[in-house]
Amino acid sequence: MDSKKRGFYIGRFQPFHLGHLKVIGEIAKQVDELVIGIGSAQLSHTPDNPFTAGERIMMISRSLKGLDLYYYVIPISDIYRNALWVAHVRSMTPPFSTVYSNNPLVSRLFREAGYEVAYSPMYNRHEYSGTEIRRRILAGEAWETLVPEAVVEVIREIKGVERLKAVSVKGDIEDVIDGVP
Ligand code: ATP
Ligand code: MG
Repeated sequence: MDSKKRGFYIGRFQPFHLGHLKVIGEIAKQVDELVIGIGSAQLSHTPDNPFTAGERIMMISRSLKGLDLYYYVIPISDIYRNALWVAHVRSMTPPFSTVYSNNPLVSRLFREAGYEVAYSPMYNRHEYSGTEIRRRILAGEAWETLVPEAVVEVIREIKGVERLKAVSVKGDIEDVIDGVP
């Protein structure tokens, strides 16, 4: 019999930032193992979802290296059917008993399915926010202090800043190819 307490935490992690790291550090004190879901796993190369699931796995694994936590990172693609979503998640993940989420829809869907759902405080939400970090990258403002050092390295390695700027250019594809956005 497996008596481990396993938790579930899901996000899009575009990119993984210090708010996520802090939440996971707190969850680590309460569970034996953590299942980390990468939401909208099929998306990449868009202004709101610049990084692939694989790149987000790199960001998370490297950032959690020093943490005393056994975890699984599982990519979860969107199915666009909220009523079936919890079953979809369950079909892809090790079993878990507690869900950690501040997302109202995620919380509602898991509660309706009978799960215990825990909220966490929001840490420095003005800055520790994927939307804010993507905005700063595009504006050429300093963003590196808002993510773990490992994420700075991954984004550098995959030329993520250049990619986010390129996929955020307005205009059609011919214009981009012509260099006249
Ligand atoms: P985006 O702005 O792109 O939505 P995000 O910063 O909200 O990015 P998500 O990947 O959407 O990041 O968040 C995953 C989970 O982490 C959600 O439950 C979200 O509420 C939570 N979260 C995000 N930022 C923080 C933070 N600063 N402190 C605590 N929890 C956070
Ligand atoms: Mg969010």
